[in-house]
Amino acid sequence: MVLYELVFATHNPNKAAEIQEILGDSFLIKTLDDLGVHDDIPETATTLEGNALLKSQYVIDRFNCNVFSDDTGLEIAALNGEPGVYSARYAGDDKNNQNNIDLVLKKLENKSDRSARFRTAISLFWDGKPFLFEGIVTGTILTERRGTGGFGYDPVFLPDGFDQSFAEMSSQQKNKISHRGRAIDKMVSFLKQF
Ligand code: IMP
Repeated sequence: MVLYELVFATHNPNKAAEIQEILGDSFLIKTLDDLGVHDDIPETATTLEGNALLKSQYVIDRFNCNVFSDDTGLEIAALNGEPGVYSARYAGDDKNNQNNIDLVLKKLENKSDRSARFRTAISLFWDGKPFLFEGIVTGTILTERRGTGGFGYDPVFLPDGFDQSFAEMSSQQKNKISHRGRAIDKMVSFLKQF
């Protein structure tokens, strides 16, 4: 029986389905498209938390409902945390994953420190109150692509303690240890108290 409706401020039905499965029948997850919002919400903040908050706030302002949003970035130590909040459009506004990876590999060519982390920030508004959740996975940027799964920077990210890149893992394996998986786990633990 559905007890709570919760909007996920995303256009990505796969992300929404994943959360719906974790939360079970007492929650009904709705996406932006379910609300009739088909535009992209501007992500103009300079931090992941700021962008997540912008997206939640956009929904609160129009629909005044329970909502959460996520924003993720790849933070590379030797590049002072770049591409970070600009991960999607690092090599240009066309958000091309291959060009983004090429740019990262080029910038790291002469660097010995290839350590990096993915970080996800989730902004939740529950009963009008704001909550933030963070998920991090640390790892290394490979010198060349490995694997064909996943998306974004997955082929060049080797998580610490594993010998497969994110793109060589199954999505279940990746979700168990990923930045997004960890941030979602924290939010789900919080929501399960209701
Ligand atoms: P978003 O906030 O989830 O839209 O992520 C922003 C950008 O970060 C994406 O366009 C990707 O370039 C990158 N990214 C986010 N999550 C992942 C991931 O799990 N693997 C690889 N790249 C990711």
